[in-house]
Amino acid sequence: MTFETPATRRVLVARPRGYCAGVDRAVQAVEKALELYGAPVYVRKQIVHNTHVVRTLEKRGAIFVEETEEVPEGAIVVFSAHGVSPAVHREAAERGLRTIDATCPLVTKVHNEARRFASQDYDILLIGHEGHEEVEGTAGEAPDHIRLVDGLGAVDTVEVKDPDRLVWLSQTTLSVDETTETVTRLKERFPNLIDPPSDDICYATQNRQVAVKEIAAEAQLVIVVGSQNSSNSKRLVEVALDHGADASHLVDDASFIRDEWLDGVTTVGVTSGASVPEDLVDGVLAHLAERGFADVEEVESVQESVRFALPHELRKDLRAGV
Ligand code: SF4
Repeated sequence: MTFETPATRRVLVARPRGYCAGVDRAVQAVEKALELYGAPVYVRKQIVHNTHVVRTLEKRGAIFVEETEEVPEGAIVVFSAHGVSPAVHREAAERGLRTIDATCPLVTKVHNEARRFASQDYDILLIGHEGHEEVEGTAGEAPDHIRLVDGLGAVDTVEVKDPDRLVWLSQTTLSVDETTETVTRLKERFPNLIDPPSDDICYATQNRQVAVKEIAAEAQLVIVVGSQNSSNSKRLVEVALDHGADASHLVDDASFIRDEWLDGVTTVGVTSGASVPEDLVDGVLAHLAERGFADVEEVESVQESVRFALPHELRKDLRAGV
């Protein structure tokens, strides 16, 4: 197949993109557990929402399960970056499982806020997506106090105990703009609604959205590398469409790109979600280069230097040379 290659064809690559500190830590936790204790290491749910990462870890000896009851008694189980509810910790303890908790510290922060506000008898409006693992984990911290607000449509229907003792929290991977709008509408309905002490939408989600806005303003097409179940990746597609891109698609890897998407396009934007390894972006850039998009420019919007230490259970065994 031959492709037209006008000199004007270019690619703008957003920075920051790809792995965040929480994903890096969670993936390393499984890798280190496999090195330290040997296969199999069980992982409850996808360690991060990326099919390539999951398949790679499976090849190395990780076994992914949906629930702890599928893990043999006494085995090692890693909890994913999205966090788990206290009930899951209890079940694991009852079954004598050795747990490694790879919950992102920024998700743990939201859990702590939920517990604190619940202990002060606040109702908590949790803005997030129903059924998402992170939302289930956070809601499980204070089931009697948390009311889920899934999108703007839920603002008018959510019921609360006391409108004067109300706080909102959110999932860490939402659209910043959409969440701001949801909070504005909630405050119109509940004027005494209070804000959380700090942003729940994490630095990585925010930074990737800032970066995609910058490239979307100049690109007709924005390709977001990420899996369909990755919340932060899906938000990047929405943000790109809201900020100037004519089209935007979420792809697991280069093989999902359709040539017709490139018809008449001179500038393609590329970014990736927080759970996406960089080699998948490299594959997309190589695929585009073969189609005449060889002029690649990286557009840096924000510098990132956040890193998290490995889960304490692993650090202890690594120090002890287990
Ligand atoms: S996206 Fe944010 S909250 Fe989720 S793992 Fe990464 S840093 Fe943590």
